[in-house]
This record gives sequence, C-alpha cells and structure tokens, in this order.
Amino acid sequence: MEYLSNYIDGVLLAPVHGAYLDNVNPATGTVFSRVPDSGADDIDRAVAAAERAFPAWAATPAEARARQLLRLADLIDRHADALARDEATDNGKPVALARRVDIPRAAKNFRFFATAILHAATEAHPMEERALNYTLRQPLGVVGCISPWNLPLYLFTWKIAPALAAGNCVVGKPSEVTPLTAFRLAELCLEAGLPPGVLNIVHGHGARAGAALVAHPKIRAISFTGGTRTGAAIAHAAAPRFKKLSLELGGKNPNIVFADCRYDEALETAVRAAFTNQGEICLCGSRIFVERPLYERFRDDFVRRVEALRVGDPLDEDTDVGAVVSEAHLEKILAYIELAKDEGGTVLCGGHRVRLDGRCAGGFFVAPTVIEGLGPDCRVNQEEIFGPVATLIPFDTEEEVLAYANGTPYGLAAILWTENLGRAHRLAARLEAGIVWVNCWMLRDLRTPFGGMKQSGVGREGGWEALRFFTEAKNVCIKLDDRDPA
Ligand code: NAD
Repeated sequence: MEYLSNYIDGVLLAPVHGAYLDNVNPATGTVFSRVPDSGADDIDRAVAAAERAFPAWAATPAEARARQLLRLADLIDRHADALARDEATDNGKPVALARRVDIPRAAKNFRFFATAILHAATEAHPMEERALNYTLRQPLGVVGCISPWNLPLYLFTWKIAPALAAGNCVVGKPSEVTPLTAFRLAELCLEAGLPPGVLNIVHGHGARAGAALVAHPKIRAISFTGGTRTGAAIAHAAAPRFKKLSLELGGKNPNIVFADCRYDEALETAVRAAFTNQGEICLCGSRIFVERPLYERFRDDFVRRVEALRVGDPLDEDTDVGAVVSEAHLEKILAYIELAKDEGGTVLCGGHRVRLDGRCAGGFFVAPTVIEGLGPDCRVNQEEIFGPVATLIPFDTEEEVLAYANGTPYGLAAILWTENLGRAHRLAARLEAGIVWVNCWMLRDLRTPFGGMKQSGVGREGGWEALRFFTEAKNVCIKLDDRDPA
C-alpha cells in the first residue's frame, strides 16, 4: 500500500494531523494507495513556504524560470510510460489514451508556457499630451490551482505551468479522487531541482483542503476546474476576499450533424466525442442533434459503432472504454439512465453496468449507452451526466437546432458538421459556447482562448489569456518633459 505525501517547501511530507483517505482503483474496486487528508494547517504551511519562495522566483529571469519548466517537461516525457500506467490505474481510463493524450499534454503544457513567457511583451500607449503609458504585468504572488479527476495531470499542469511561468508561486490541490500523478509530479520537481516552495502540492478533500486554500488570505487568485456547483461555492467564498478567479466548469455540449456533412468523419468523430475517456471530458458531445433526412441512417450506424466499443481493463492496450472513476459516479450514471427511461427515452444500446471477469470483477464499468426519444428540455438532456451516455435527437431547421443547442444552462463547447460555409459561420457566431468545433472535435491549439460561458465558467485559459490571468496589469503613466535641462 503506497502512502502519498504532500509536497511542501521542497519536501515530501505527511499531513499535519496524520489522517489519510483511501484511494480506490476504479477498475478493481480496491484501495491501492492512501492520500493525505490535509486540512487548514497543511495549507497554512504550504502558503507560508510559497510566500517565502515568491520574491526570489519572481525575480528569477524568465529564461531561468523557463529552463526549470522545460526540465519538468523532459522528466514527464522520460517517465511517460509509468505516468500513463499510474493515470490509468487511478482514474480508470485506458492506458493507451493516457499515453497518447494525458501525459504528452502535461509535458506540452510546461513546454508551451515555458517558451511563451520568453515572448511575452506588454503594451505602450503614447499620448498626444506628451505622456507615455506602459503596462507592467507583474506576478500576483501566491496563487491556488484546484483541478478535477477526469484529466488529472493534464489539467493540473495546465494551471500550474502558466502560473509558474509568470513568476507566481503555487499551492496546488489535485482531486482527492485521482491524486497519484500529482504526487509523481512532486517527485519529478525534486528530481528537476525546482527551488523549494515555488510549487507546493497539498492533497485532500475539496471541502477541507480545497476550501482552506480558497479562504486563505494570502492566496491572491484561484484557478479552478471542476463542477459548476463547486465553482459557485468557490466564487461565494472568494468574492468577499476580492480574489481573482478563473472558473472552468461543467458542460452539456451539443453535437449538431447536418445532412450535408462529410458522413463518415462526422459519424466516427461523434462516437469519439461522446465516449472517449468514458464520456468523462467536459468537452464531450453528449447531445447529438441530427438533421431529419439523415437521422435514421446516422442512428443505426452510430449504435452499431458504439456496440463495437470494447469495454475492458484499462491496462489492456485494446480497451476503448475503461472504468468510470468511482462507485458513486457509477451510481450517478446508472440513475440518469433510469431517469431517461422514466422520461420516455428508449435505450438503443448499453444502459447497464458491465461485469468483467478476473482482476476487474469488482470494477465500475458502464456499457456505452445511446438513448433516443427524449425532448431537449428533459433532465437527461439538461444536466451533466459526465459518463458514457449520449442522446440522439432529430431536427428540421437551423433555428430549431440552435434553440436546442443553446437551451441549457451550460455554454462550454459545441460541435457542428456541415459543408455549408455560410451556415458554419452563421451558427458559430450564434452558438452560446466558448469553443465551437466545425467538422472536428478536440483539436486544441494551446494559444487559443479556452473556457465557457453561462454556467460553464468565468474567464479564459490558454495562451496569453492564462498569462494575463496570473499577472496584475499596472499602468505606468509618465509625463514627458520636453524642456532642455540646460
Ligand atoms: P469537483 O467540483 O467535485 O472537484 C474539483 C476539484 O475541486 C477537486 O480537487 C475537489 O477536491 C475540489 N473541491 C471540491 N469542493 C471544493 C470546495 N468547496 N472548495 C475548494 N475546492 C473544492 O469536480 P470533479 O467531480 O472532480 O470534476 C468533474 C467536473 O469537472 C465536471 O463537472 C466537469 O465538467 C468539470 N470539468 C470542467 C472542465 C473545463 O475545462 N471546463 C474540464 C474538466 C472537468
């Protein structure tokens, strides 16, 4: 049984009060490690360490900070296989997916922001009144980064990398459900020789460790990715303390398929968009709207392809769909499938728990599920399920599908399939989503603004947006003196 540690002031530490939480392998249902159940005392220590480290880190030339982050990226690459296995074990996702997506992206996050900071420039605003304004973008100080369980190392590093690159010191709180690769990152920080206190990682429950981090008076900003309800609680706690907030929250994303689409690509991508990572990606297209002339053909082909997905041991290279992250999450997904039936839906495939043999007999597996016959306003089509469940809905007109697509409280991503250029632009402009993918899904350029509208979040990550978030803009206005000093 491995006991994970907090990483505070450059040292791997047990939690102050010695309490641990069980960490369950979702593919087997068994406890395989224990994670610190940290509280306010641990957070206090981490924030104090970060405060001590801040002046020197902020004064470190950008090039030297970048070198440190590049070293971390190289170490992630070097340990990629082991990290992918850890991620699959902790989260339940297929190891092949972790190796292809999660771990390379974690390295890329560090590389991207390490090199971005070398190109950062600020604005100047000369005035006709013979004055010059220029903008200083200075690090905030100590910031908090809180991440969820679905893309554990990928999203944790997506926050930490820009924060550190901009010269801040960080206290990170990974999800208590998937803490393992954040702990491994701490080990890599030691190997990389990151100065003590620059990055601190405190494990524990959101309601204890997470809430203590948000409430801490010395924490200047919180970058949070997770559920909408948690985001609201964080906003409530942070607002009276006037902290900067970036909130990346839930989604219920539409995938709109017009009859003129490139059919095979739309079909294949719709399956991926709904079921990759067991449907546990905030950007998944779980509400699939298909133009009526294409509906029956698409439905039948879609279901055939979904039925062919292999549900299996995450460590098996051939697995398409692994375990969902926890027993509680399994129960939530199954309850939504029951609700779909109550709401009048027809389950076309899946709709049940999958029992595997051998090592995975106690695991939390759900058959990829496709449902039709539900209206766009029912709960199953309004609430985030965050599992391998997709619904199919036919539509007749552009206006109608736009109303369906925009008719949820969320506004994270939208996917659109059409060969009609005018329609693509028209809908892209009117869809209420922070990201619109036309004829593709999950194509991510890290320079682009990333985030949601409505209840999917506040603020944007990615590129300069992230570096702006993690800095304070200060305008310096200098009156120019044209007089000759002589
Ligand atoms: P969650 O909100 O339960 O937890 C996220 C993190 O917040 C965890 O580290 C948790 O410990 C912490 N936390 C919980 N309560 C807290 C509190 N009161 N104060 C401070 N921290 C607290 O989310 P989850 O179940 O881990 O993740 C799934 C959710 O994340 C889904 O809704 C999904 O859509 C969303 N998500 C969004 C994005 C995005 O970019 N918009 C990306 C991935 C996941």
